[in-house]
Amino acid sequence: MMIEVPTAVIDAISEGERFVILGHRDPDGDSLGSMLAISAFLREQFRKESFMPGPLDWPEKFFFLEKHLNGAGKPFDDNIDTLLILDCSAENRIDWANVEPNSFPEARRIVIDHHREGEPFGDVNWIDPRASATGEMIFNILEALGAQFTSDIAESIYSAILTDTGRFTYSNTTAKSLEICAKLVQAGNLDLADITSQVYYNFSEEYLRNIGIALYNTRVYRDSKILLLTLDKASVKSFSTTFDDTEGIIDFAMSVRGVEVAALFKEISRNVIRVSLRSRGKFDVGAIAVEMGGGGHHNAAGCTMEMPLSLARDVILRRFEDLFAGSSSLGERH
Ligand code: 5GP
Ligand code: MN
Repeated sequence: MMIEVPTAVIDAISEGERFVILGHRDPDGDSLGSMLAISAFLREQFRKESFMPGPLDWPEKFFFLEKHLNGAGKPFDDNIDTLLILDCSAENRIDWANVEPNSFPEARRIVIDHHREGEPFGDVNWIDPRASATGEMIFNILEALGAQFTSDIAESIYSAILTDTGRFTYSNTTAKSLEICAKLVQAGNLDLADITSQVYYNFSEEYLRNIGIALYNTRVYRDSKILLLTLDKASVKSFSTTFDDTEGIIDFAMSVRGVEVAALFKEISRNVIRVSLRSRGKFDVGAIAVEMGGGGHHNAAGCTMEMPLSLARDVILRRFEDLFAGSSSLGERH
């Protein structure tokens, strides 16, 4: 049950002195929480220096975590020996924020992630798809290093696991995730109602309008087994919203009775479509995302398609239909 942290990871972290912590673009609760937790530990309990240059586009609902930066947001020079890259398994998804990627050619790269796509690109890699969140892996590392789970660290890791498990509802939620969170709640004396309202009951007016656009534009196939939601550029413009605040909109589609697969299309520009894919149970949308140059998990993935909106929708609908065709005999067996 206990996840063993590879010795190479423990050694590499112990050997580092000056760290830069990086996550992925479009930061989410898991990347931010994981980055903040390990940064706080390195600075406050492990006598290291750590810096978090990004992300620049910190979502508003995670502003409450910013207080845990605790000095790590300060400017730093190029004298860095270790890059810790969290929750980001594709090199081209690293959020370099205002740092030049080539600034630290000598620095050792440690990659810690629970996504499965891509070739590991670090000098030391720990990729464990069994972990519900990178935050869970950070908990294991900190525990192995004898950390004290202060309220700063506990709130950061709890937020990481809370959000990556969809408030402990997705199929990646395990007894282990709950056990870790129970320890964090106790050690950090966390105010769960406050964290929940910061993250989930914090809609902006713009977000509300985006929900409206996406739901109004929903297309339904196969008796609601397939749902396609769209935020098209024209509607986003006419309702004066942006594409910044759309996380979770696809969950409305996954709340429909009988739905098996869903996609949200965001028409960023005429030939750039950001796609979020979700499925329930056996259907693997991660494989579809990988095929389109993106990635993610079995039940939650994403990609960017460089083609017009109507074509992107056709391509994904066809892939979704293929899933049903491929499993017609399996589906009847139960
Ligand atoms: P979302 O739909 O919430 O943006 O992403 C769902 C999952 O797919 C996340 O775990 C995210 O890391 C992954 N993902 C989304 N878009 C991309 C992408 O363009 N490339 C890769 N490699 N992974 C993605
Ligand atoms: Mn994650």
